[in-house]
Formats: sequence, C-alpha cells, structure tokens
Amino acid sequence: MIAFEHLTVRYRTAQKEKNKTTVLDDISLTVPQGTVCAIIGPSGCGKSTLLKAAAGLIKPAEGNVRLDERALDPKKDCIGFMPQNYGLLPWQTVRENIVLGCRIRKNWQDGREADEARLQGLAQKLHIEDLLSRYPRQLSGGQQQRVSLARSFLLRPDILLMDEPFSALDAITREEMQDVFLTLWQEQHVTTILVTHYVEEALYLGQKIVVMGAKPGRIVRVFENPLSGSSEKRSTQEFFTMGRNLREEIRRISRGEEA
Ligand code: ADP
Ligand code: MG
Repeated sequence: MIAFEHLTVRYRTAQKEKNKTTVLDDISLTVPQGTVCAIIGPSGCGKSTLLKAAAGLIKPAEGNVRLDERALDPKKDCIGFMPQNYGLLPWQTVRENIVLGCRIRKNWQDGREADEARLQGLAQKLHIEDLLSRYPRQLSGGQQQRVSLARSFLLRPDILLMDEPFSALDAITREEMQDVFLTLWQEQHVTTILVTHYVEEALYLGQKIVVMGAKPGRIVRVFENPLSGSSEKRSTQEFFTMGRNLREEIRRISRGEEA
C-alpha cells in the first residue's frame, strides 16, 4: 500500500526562500497493495511532482508518503520509476539497460542461472530477445518502451511509478503496450501509480482513478473503476460513456468549474 498523507510540495520560484509556490496542496490518497491507480489531470497540475515525491526524489514541505505502515525510504524500498522519456542510457546496450536497476540494487549477477533465465523470459514476453545487444538509438519508440518495461519488471519493485509511459507512441502501439503492461502486471501485481493524460488508458488500466486539478495541484475526485483490466469491457458502450463523461469532467476542471 502507498499512502500520501496531507502531502504539500512547494517549489522555490526565485532565489529568496520566501518566494515559494505551492505545487501540491494537501494531497491525501491511498493506493491499496497490488492495485493500479491512474492519475489524470491537466498539464502542470503536479502529476510528475507527485510521482517524484513518491520516489523520494523531492522532499515535501508538509505531510509524508508511507509504504504499508511506515515512512517510505528510497534507500531501502525498491522503487521502479519509469520516466516519460523511457530513461534508457544511450551508451549502454539493451541488455545492460534492462539489468541496470537490478545492478544498482546489487540484485543481479551476470551468468547466474536464475537471473539470466528471468531476463530471457521477460525479453521473450516482450518480444525483444533479438534486440539485447543493440543500443537504444537503434530501436523504435515502441521497442524502447518494451526495454523500459523489462527493466522495471526485472527489478520486481515494491512499487512502480510510471509517468505518462505510453504517451510518445502512436495509438495502435500504445494500445499494444497497455496490453503488454497488463500481462506483466498480472504476474507480479506490483502496486502501481500510472500518470496518464489519456482517459481511455486510465479506464483500461486503473482500478482507482484520481482526477487532479491545477493551481495549486490537488485531488478533485477519486473513483473506483469497475472497467479496468478487461479487454472485453474496453469495447462496451459503458466504457465509451464513462470515457466521455470523464473527458467532460476534466474539461470542466481545466476551466476551473469543478466547485
Ligand atoms: P504535470 O506533470 O502535471 O504536468 P509538474 O509536476 O511537472 O506537472 O509541475 C507542476 C508545477 O510545478 C508546474 O507549474 C511546473 O511549472 C512547476 N514545477 C515543476 N518542477 C519545478 C521545479 N523544479 N521548480 C519550480 N517549479 C517547478
Ligand atoms: Mg508531467
């Protein structure tokens, strides 16, 4: 379980300490163990900031982030973080990029049978087994995305944080990657926060959907989503209607009409 408790984040807008802007205002949210929470909201409302706080990359002004019943500790807890640009190192091969996270956590040994078998298994599921000795620049966007997913799932993290992971892909590849993600996720059931600006992606992947508003970044609505995780439901009238309503709600929030 990930829990944000009255999380407030301020950024300094000028050199002087007193000039700080509140970017996230009193965020309280619980993501139950083994579920996916999708976060959706207008650009600049603090979605990336929320993920960075969850990853321990920025320190909140107030409040805290808890993992299960204790304070999240990025040194001890294993956090998978998938940034928007895939986060691949251009000077390392696909294989090196995939094992990077495990290496950093000293959870990988070249040649160790169990490790190599897991890597091969993941590479096969992701259809990248023939790309392991290539470099990221020699891959398409969709392939880079698969490598990034392989890295995250090889790590078997306690929590997975994904920042608009599929947004740079074309629509068909994006839907394909959502399915690939679901297949891997259903094996590990890692507690996941997924930031997206696609309504359909939130509905397909998020058991819980959080709608945020901007200035200051805050939670406007949280709802349980019965339509997640099923490709059959994805093509129903209910899914379509929910998507339309959610899109309309986000539009209202962007215009500042949510109150
Ligand atoms: P989102 O991911 O929802 O688009 P961000 O979390 O990236 O939003 O940013 C939220 C707000 O905080 C924006 O107004 C942005 O300009 C501001 N911001 C982001 N990072 C910094 C920073 N390092 N210093 C100052 N302001 C920042
Ligand atoms: Mg962002």
